[in-house]
Amino acid sequence: MANNHSHDAEKSISTAFWLNAVFVVIEAVGGLLTNSIAILSDALHDFGDTLSLALSWFLQKKSKKAADSKYTYGYKRFSLLGTVFLSGVLFISSAWVIYAAIGRICSPSEVDAKGMVWLAIVGVVINGAAALRVNRGHSLSERAVFLHIMEDVLGWVAVLVTAIVMIFFDVPILDPILSIVISVWVLFNVIRNMRDTGIVFLQATPKDIPVDKLKEQILELPDVESVHDVHIWSLDGDSHVMSLHVVSFTFKTQSLKQQIYDIASQYHISHVTVDIEKPGTNCTYKTTHK
Ligand SMILES: [Zn+2]
Ligand SMILES: [Zn+2]
Ligand SMILES: [Zn+2]
Repeated sequence: MANNHSHDAEKSISTAFWLNAVFVVIEAVGGLLTNSIAILSDALHDFGDTLSLALSWFLQKKSKKAADSKYTYGYKRFSLLGTVFLSGVLFISSAWVIYAAIGRICSPSEVDAKGMVWLAIVGVVINGAAALRVNRGHSLSERAVFLHIMEDVLGWVAVLVTAIVMIFFDVPILDPILSIVISVWVLFNVIRNMRDTGIVFLQATPKDIPVDKLKEQILELPDVESVHDVHIWSLDGDSHVMSLHVVSFTFKTQSLKQQIYDIASQYHISHVTVDIEKPGTNCTYKTTHK
């Protein structure tokens, strides 16, 4: 069953990849034919989406690889490298598009507004269909996927409205202005992704883990006197790791550990190391890592 499930996930990623890749080509050709830099910058955004789908397609296979003696935590962090690579590509290319769009503002050139309308209709329909199909679940990643597709739809609605205005009024400058808006939004997302990745690299406590509440839950377990040296960090932003010392006089250490594992699993902590000390043990970490 678990095997079936991951097979489905792999199939839906590969389908999404091919749909996106074909659409990027249509957009790039359409952008060149209509001479619209706004559509070209949207093509760039979709190219970024396609590249990140390709990366997660590749990494999904890679991350299934079990931990080995070289990478004792497994291969989950490889996805962070993918994000860094993708961010670099998008950062450079959208900076270049903004530069080109500023040139267009200084010396505007005519665009084929009617052609843009047809392309935008195709864009709204395809992205709108994807938005309807996507699973509107409550998990953080499902919400993120849905929001992303809604942003894609909005981008195309903006292209559609701009193109219609340009049919009736001679304002070719709107095209590079929209292009800059789209590129700035791409850059904003790049910076946000880089920040989230940096936080994982710096081993910060994952955003979704309320450490004090977690400690409180462990302290409420029978036989637990105190905890110290609690460390929580994340492998890839989704699966987390915790190590801690627990002071307890219990002799049923295995059952105490199991109760701590159960609490940890509520917070997506997939890897826990517990050190159980008898009260009065002289542990140096008590003072250095409270
Ligand atoms: Zn997108
Ligand atoms: Zn420590
Ligand atoms: Zn200790």
